[in-house]
Amino acid sequence: MSEAMAETTNWGRLQTEVKGYVGIDTIQEQIRKKALKRGFEFNVMVVGSSGLGKSTLVNTLFKAKVSRRSCMQSEKDPALIIPKTVEVQSISHVIEENGVRLKLTVTDTPGFGDHINNENCWLPILEYINEQYEKYLSEEINVSRKKQIPDSRVHVCLYFIAPTGHGLKPLDIEFMKRLDKVVNVVPIIAKADTLTIEEREHFKARIKQALNEADISTYPMKELETDEEDDNINTRIRDQMPFAVVGSDKSHQVDGKEVLGRLTNWGLIEVENHNHCEFANLRDMLIRTHLQDLKDVTHCIHYENFRFERLNARKKIDKGEDQESRC
Ligand code: GDP
Ligand code: MG
Repeated sequence: MSEAMAETTNWGRLQTEVKGYVGIDTIQEQIRKKALKRGFEFNVMVVGSSGLGKSTLVNTLFKAKVSRRSCMQSEKDPALIIPKTVEVQSISHVIEENGVRLKLTVTDTPGFGDHINNENCWLPILEYINEQYEKYLSEEINVSRKKQIPDSRVHVCLYFIAPTGHGLKPLDIEFMKRLDKVVNVVPIIAKADTLTIEEREHFKARIKQALNEADISTYPMKELETDEEDDNINTRIRDQMPFAVVGSDKSHQVDGKEVLGRLTNWGLIEVENHNHCEFANLRDMLIRTHLQDLKDVTHCIHYENFRFERLNARKKIDKGEDQESRC
């Protein structure tokens, strides 16, 4: 552990012996208490054509009705809320578990890929992502800035691939190619229960090949790995991707336990059962192991790139104006 830390901190072999208990080990607890008081923020975006199970999957992930669909159902006639172009809509919830509060924002993109001409339909999504970076940046460079800047930046974009069994569509490639540099993209095979095991494996291999050929870098990115431990874990995740998932917000009794699943004529598909689908792998990565890393990569890589370009562009404009006023 100390070796890994030495590598990531660049502190090398710098170490001085202490002659008694100092209490440095309490730092962890101090950080934990502060973080708990502050609460956590996590922003998820879902993209994919209508009916691929986006709303159902976010409800399955957080075991609550957190999707836009669930929240709007009673308010309006569903026929009236089908958008004509791609819309970007966010909804926030605070969920709590064992004293840990999470402000979860789910951003839905209804209308994506639903039209005859889907040209540029990634544009409103890209604009939304950049708008959130812009908001954060203007708060950050404000003279009297807030103690804690509200974070609406998208930490992960779940991209739903239709379970056609063939391969990626041009729109899938186009979207991921445009977005992989600005946000953490996690592609998933939607409604995987509609594919046989064999079809699923073939489909996965084809998708992987297409992503490789198009030079798309999905999360977790290989080029960001710094230590061996992370590299091993992430290589295993990359091998399994794209996760073939099944979503359901209905629970059923199995061996006296309530489980989320889809009841069909030929049996129950349990969403968390590793033998049935890879929903649990996705959930583990997004929430249990990589939530903080998704936020860190957003802040340190994607937002940093945006910030660099924005501030550089501003500097150039300022310089130009300066020279003009001198002339
Ligand atoms: P959205 O338009 O992408 O948000 O899709 P919804 O979540 O509204 O789901 C559309 C329909 O597909 C609903 O009838 C869901 O019950 C169903 N559905 C959702 N997830 C799955 C899945 O994993 N497998 C199957 N077979 N159906 C699903
Ligand atoms: Mg929906």
